[in-house]
Amino acid sequence: MIKHLHEQLIKKEISAVELAQDALKNIADFDPHVRAFITVAKDYALSRAREADAKIAQGANIGILTGIPFSAKDVFCVRGMKTTAGAKILQNYISPYSATAFEKIERAGGVLIGKANCDAFGHGSSTENSDYGTTHNPWNLEYVPGGSSGGSSAAVSASMGVFSLAEDTGGSIRQPASFTNTVGLKVTYGLISRFGVIAYASSLDTIGHITRSVEDAAIILEHIAGHDPKDLTTSKRDVPRYAENLKSSLKGIRLGIPKEYFTEGLDPRVKTAVEKAIAFFEDQGALIIEVSLPHTRYAVSAYYLISTSETSSNLARYDGIGYGYSAQDAGDLLSVFMKSRGQGFGPEAKRRIMLGTYALSSGYYDAYYKKAQKVRTLIKQDFDAAFERVDSIVCPASPIPPFKIGEKCDDPLQMYLADIYTVPINLAGVPALCVPCGFTEEKLPIGMQIIGKQFDEQTLLQIGWAYEQAHEWKSKQPIVR
Ligand code: GLN
Repeated sequence: MIKHLHEQLIKKEISAVELAQDALKNIADFDPHVRAFITVAKDYALSRAREADAKIAQGANIGILTGIPFSAKDVFCVRGMKTTAGAKILQNYISPYSATAFEKIERAGGVLIGKANCDAFGHGSSTENSDYGTTHNPWNLEYVPGGSSGGSSAAVSASMGVFSLAEDTGGSIRQPASFTNTVGLKVTYGLISRFGVIAYASSLDTIGHITRSVEDAAIILEHIAGHDPKDLTTSKRDVPRYAENLKSSLKGIRLGIPKEYFTEGLDPRVKTAVEKAIAFFEDQGALIIEVSLPHTRYAVSAYYLISTSETSSNLARYDGIGYGYSAQDAGDLLSVFMKSRGQGFGPEAKRRIMLGTYALSSGYYDAYYKKAQKVRTLIKQDFDAAFERVDSIVCPASPIPPFKIGEKCDDPLQMYLADIYTVPINLAGVPALCVPCGFTEEKLPIGMQIIGKQFDEQTLLQIGWAYEQAHEWKSKQPIVR
């Protein structure tokens, strides 16, 4: 997609302004129904597109992202633009600086068309926890587009921008990608700078993107990966040319199938679609090997203890003073804190602050937080052991296909449990790619997850690419109405 658009731009068969206008027209037509955007940056997009066209007209040697329209989940700070993280408490926050990943895309000539909706602070799996309303799945407007990056996945699947920058703490890129027939990449912790991205849970947060194809995922990754002095958790390794290397065959590659991921709770439609993909890999000469990740059943509990603990600490900064929402009816300092937080945070943020504060409190710390950290180590060891025998692991991204809006929001535990296949990956800090692998009879998308060794994004992209070349999912687009 990106490569093709780039060629068209160079040959002047299309202009960057036309590309931006196309994306903006789709937003005008579809977004009143889909509601993927919190902010549409129309004037900004058109002026950036004009700059790109001017460069092309001068015959400048333009990079592959020049003139390509994209969106960013509203957790990416963009200088001078509203950045809400989907939360009311940040409703008027204008960021004075930009996130590194966003800046890298801008410098490469990308054209930002808007900021995408998400569950507030990334807390959720459906966008129903956004303080700006729920995003609808373009494949069927009665269904959720996944979450927390549901605005991003809906935007990309309905051609409102070519790709979307997003964030994944426990599945927020992969699960929405699997719900919308898009590709989602969650990278190794430390591969992409988190600077300027509103924190959810700092030891789990990773930056990534949602695209229409695996090749596009590789192209974006090349642009945003790498060390950043502003984020000391970033690795100093050289960034590979991921897109150029998408060529090798699958012959002899060892693919692990985790037996704990194919048991009860897995919807038969998802199971069948993923098993078909596994059969395809076998046909291509891959070696299919059963592996065990025995601590999988503790992953959701460990994740929801660690992530809520970290978020309770990260959200302490929203005190009604530094920035964001400040209650007007507060008489003294303590009531500024209490009322601003009481009125500014939604119910899910409050639930998580309470859970996390409890888990960290003295007397309970050892029983909950510390224990969860120990479980985290065991989960990491499960993956280490599996990766001694296989090159990559293939499994579903979500145990269920997209669910209906309203179906799970009264029961947060049901929602948390559906994260079973994505949260272990964040706990282990390894990368995973979600690739479309079919549809239900009702035409709801299904995705599979390809998990890799730390810093081995290349292998995941190769497997995903080989699969994508032989299947038609990528060419399917939703009819929004
Ligand atoms: N659904 C998970 C949660 O609510 C993941 C969110 C995310 O990755 N940001 O925590």
